[in-house]
Amino acid sequence: MRIEDALLRAQQAAEPEVGRGQLATYIPSLASVDPGQFGMAIASCDGSVHVVGDADVRFSVQSITKVFTLAQVVAAEGEQIWTRVGREPSGNPFNSFLQLDQEAGRPRNPFINAGALVVTDRLQSLTGDASGALRDLMRRESGSDDVDIDAAVARSELEAGHRTFAMAHLLASYGNLEHPVDEVIGQYVAQCSLAMSCRELALAGLFLARDGVLSDGTQLLSPRETKRINAVMLTCGTYDSAGEFAYRVGLPAKSGVGGGILAVIPDRGVACVWSPALGSSGSSAAGLAALDAFTTYSDWTVF
Ligand code: GLU
Repeated sequence: MRIEDALLRAQQAAEPEVGRGQLATYIPSLASVDPGQFGMAIASCDGSVHVVGDADVRFSVQSITKVFTLAQVVAAEGEQIWTRVGREPSGNPFNSFLQLDQEAGRPRNPFINAGALVVTDRLQSLTGDASGALRDLMRRESGSDDVDIDAAVARSELEAGHRTFAMAHLLASYGNLEHPVDEVIGQYVAQCSLAMSCRELALAGLFLARDGVLSDGTQLLSPRETKRINAVMLTCGTYDSAGEFAYRVGLPAKSGVGGGILAVIPDRGVACVWSPALGSSGSSAAGLAALDAFTTYSDWTVF
């Protein structure tokens, strides 16, 4: 089936799910988003983009940024980060403390909050401005110079960030942070507060489908590093329901509480879908249905 037709099928499959489920309510700016929105973009490795629905509306990227900060750290210094963070699915909520304490401050994987804090801490050491480095990468790869951090979201994240602060203090108590807690949290909430559209995010993630090659032809990651980051996305990228997500969609993916999901189809392209209401899996309910249909009707799948 042509990509345009598979995209329409995906939109149809998502329709009954749009608005179903819960908005993230821990901060006002996420709780007040219109849940009736749905957008999807497919960026192909050749640079062409197909979209449906609200694919040009910016939303809060949140945890999807965790893939990009990990990529930047691996790009800068190879695989050293794995001495501080594991790469096993956690099977626990993304903001759980249980395993972190039981496992002596070494987070299970880079996509739960504890692991992402360690990655951001490392990116801060490597760049001096982790969220700025992330924003610059996103601007370059999406081709949108005005991609930015939403300051209001960042402020609310800070005010509501009791668990995140507690998590960072627990990491620090085990000696797994290089910077003061406030500095790491400041960078982390700024990172989560990046606002981008499906089209921009799909373009920004294309290097993950292109063996690590950026839009200007330079290599951010080696093919092996790219393969490995995609593999960690497949097993750990969609909260504590990565098994169910893999069963239905069968692609490496990362979701966020803003309702976005980024999925990688190696050597083909990147799909980004957004609809703000979250299903019981913690990922966008309509987004999951759309990606399920997309991989069913197109031949864009790894299985
Ligand atoms: N800022 C959110 C948090 O740290 C990100 C959560 C997410 O998208 O999974 O709780």
